Amino acid sequence: LTEELEVEARKLCETLDGHRVPLLVNTGLVEDQSRAQALGAEGVGLYRTEVPFMMAERFPGEQEQTRIYREQLVAFAPFPVVMRTLDIGGDKPLPYFPIEERNPALGWRGIRVTLDHPEVFMAQIRAMLRASDGLENLRILLPMVASMHEVDEARKMVMRAHEELQSNEGLKLPMPRIGAMIEVPSMIFQVGALSKRVDFLSVGSNDLTQYLLAVDRDNPRVAGLYNAMHPAVLRALNDLALKARKYQLPVSLCGELAGDPAGALLLMAMGYQGLSMNLSSLPRVKAAIRRVTLAQAKQLLVAVLPCETTQEVEDAVAAFSREHD
Ligand code: PEP
Ligand code: MG
Repeated sequence: LTEELEVEARKLCETLDGHRVPLLVNTGLVEDQSRAQALGAEGVGLYRTEVPFMMAERFPGEQEQTRIYREQLVAFAPFPVVMRTLDIGGDKPLPYFPIEERNPALGWRGIRVTLDHPEVFMAQIRAMLRASDGLENLRILLPMVASMHEVDEARKMVMRAHEELQSNEGLKLPMPRIGAMIEVPSMIFQVGALSKRVDFLSVGSNDLTQYLLAVDRDNPRVAGLYNAMHPAVLRALNDLALKARKYQLPVSLCGELAGDPAGALLLMAMGYQGLSMNLSSLPRVKAAIRRVTLAQAKQLLVAVLPCETTQEVEDAVAAFSREHD
């Protein structure tokens, strides 16, 4: 780290008027933990557990998983580490577990796979819980949730794994907070139901954008149509934040939008309580937040929400950046 970056890293992520926004990192296999902390990350907002699974030649065993997860938890303690349960299928194939489908984005992926394979899910949960022995920073996040039934089933399994470890192995483990990812648009209309079942929400704006706009996130032919700054996506995110507040459910966001400086300002203005991003985006986002007041970010939001086209949103953002650079 250069000296200048180090000085920046030690500064809090807050607006000119002192509104704090924790910035967290998205991690996978080769994340440089010490670098994340040196840059001032306040934890892991999304640990993609499928990454070590993708690098392996077969399903990693329970012990191996425990070791990998413990490393993450220890490295960031006491900051939170949000571990997402296995999110395979769709754009994340496992080489040794092929899934052939006509329409994988709408098919067997995320929580759907692990609920159909409780042995895989239970092994992973036990490994996470064992890894958290003596620590308090494990959070568990469920990907691609599309119904309350899935949340109920997953919760039951987490509780069962927790009980098993306590009674069979005498481990005294804290019960981790459990969250749901908001990636499927229907979930925006079930925040009340979710609030009875989970402790927090984390928006996956990459998939949420894909499903709201019906644009494949990985298809270069339609890449020009894929944009989280689409007015409908922004309004959906705003509605979600309002509902989360109404039900007193903490909500953060861990998709690429959080790593975009303008996106981060808009999310902060909407009331998102944590932003999780790739490490490389963190210094830029922090600098953008430190340059404005919360009221100014809210003015940008007010300017952007009535926009009818993505171009109008981008023009409003560009005008704002000119004013505040
Ligand atoms: C997302 O969908 O926004 C997300 C964070 O998860 P992933 O990119 O791993 O699908
Ligand atoms: Mg996703």
